[in-house]
Amino acid sequence: MNEYDSSRMLDLMQDAYGMKLVANPEDADVILMNTCSIREKAEDKVYSELGRYRKLKEKRPDMIIGVGGCVGQQEGKRIQQRAPYVDAVFGPQSYHKLPEMINKIRRERVNVTATEMPEIEKFDHLPAPKGNGMSGFVTIMEGCDKFCTFCVVPYTRGSELSRPVEDVLEECRKLLATGITEISLLGQNVNAYRGLAADEDEWDFTMLLYAVAKLEGLERLRFSTSHPMEVTEEMAAAFGDLPVLMPYLHLPVQSGSDVILKAMHRGHARDDYFPLIESLRKHCPDIALSSDFIVGYPGETDEDFEQTLDLVRRVNYDFSYCFKYSPRPGTPAAQSEDNIPEEVKDERLQRLLALTRLQTREAMNKQIGRVVNVLVEKESKTDGEMQGRTADYRIVHFEGQPRQIGQTMPVRITKAYGQSLRGELILA
Ligand code: SAH
Ligand code: SF4
Repeated sequence: MNEYDSSRMLDLMQDAYGMKLVANPEDADVILMNTCSIREKAEDKVYSELGRYRKLKEKRPDMIIGVGGCVGQQEGKRIQQRAPYVDAVFGPQSYHKLPEMINKIRRERVNVTATEMPEIEKFDHLPAPKGNGMSGFVTIMEGCDKFCTFCVVPYTRGSELSRPVEDVLEECRKLLATGITEISLLGQNVNAYRGLAADEDEWDFTMLLYAVAKLEGLERLRFSTSHPMEVTEEMAAAFGDLPVLMPYLHLPVQSGSDVILKAMHRGHARDDYFPLIESLRKHCPDIALSSDFIVGYPGETDEDFEQTLDLVRRVNYDFSYCFKYSPRPGTPAAQSEDNIPEEVKDERLQRLLALTRLQTREAMNKQIGRVVNVLVEKESKTDGEMQGRTADYRIVHFEGQPRQIGQTMPVRITKAYGQSLRGELILA
């Protein structure tokens, strides 16, 4: 979602000022930093990065520095108190005001802060998306009303708000008209989508999926991130039903322990999760699945953690993203003592990683010998090599040409690594 927001900020700056992206920060007239506050580490990076920009601004005092995103939202004016050379601070719901903010800074040389959560849709103020040649993101809903106890998102991105059906379809059509073939629908809780259609009917997420799937030129449809509580039988069936809906789903469960799930306010028990996985695999046997996990939530016992390992073994994920619990200011969990010692968090993280890496590795090994369709995304770091993704979101490297970027090509998988695959292009 931050990548999407950054690309929309760039679109705005291009439209308002004809600005373009430069390779080095030294050459920039405006530096915008888009930030994340989901874990403490991400937030710490903001201030160390700002220290570097300060030096640039000393040499070029007319340079404008802005901090946007969730750290901007959460910290507001405190950022400018700590780093007075920051001209603009803005939240994820206010970046449509960037041209206005920059005008004001240029005219009056004042610091500005925009962290209100406006009722009006920021999307109405954004220019048409430009697309990157092969794929595009479309935000369909924002914010979150789930209030998991560990999470800052409901505070930084505000409450759930779904864009009207026709706005979403129009943005998809515009992107497809630029020649892209893959669309990813985005939302913090994407499957909690409830948007108004032209006839004032409320559509749920699955209805929207079917409508987007029909758009001309679309070859690959993806979405992220889904909440288990919002998975319906119809949504699972769509994976079997819609050829353009790619067989990959990220369905974070966080923990395998009922006690912890309850404490986290996730809204479901461990045994509610398995039937969802079964249903998805029934409708789409080849679906690749992934999840996020948090270890060391306050009060997590060895037994709770064993329950997480057990869930991971039962589900057998293609990819997993594992995090140590990090208390976030203002969240309910931060009021409990962060009482799992760092060594225990570390040890649990290592054990979970050992298991999930093995699962990813085995799932990768199974791809050897298969012929898969790869959407070519970019040149690899290795000379003469290209990189792309399979339908089930695996990264593939192969010998190819830059002119293949944006095309979908058949590749025979010859080798598997921990996180990626190697293959040979099959030329007709
Ligand atoms: N909306 C998504 C997740 C958004 S945050 C969902 O409900 O699944 C992305 C991931 O960051 C979460 O799934 C969680 O695993 C992790 N995360 C969020 N807050 C965290 C915290 N305080 N400490 C550690 N990990 C956290
Ligand atoms: Fe955060 Fe996701 Fe929970 Fe919302 S559902 S509070 S975004 S973890």
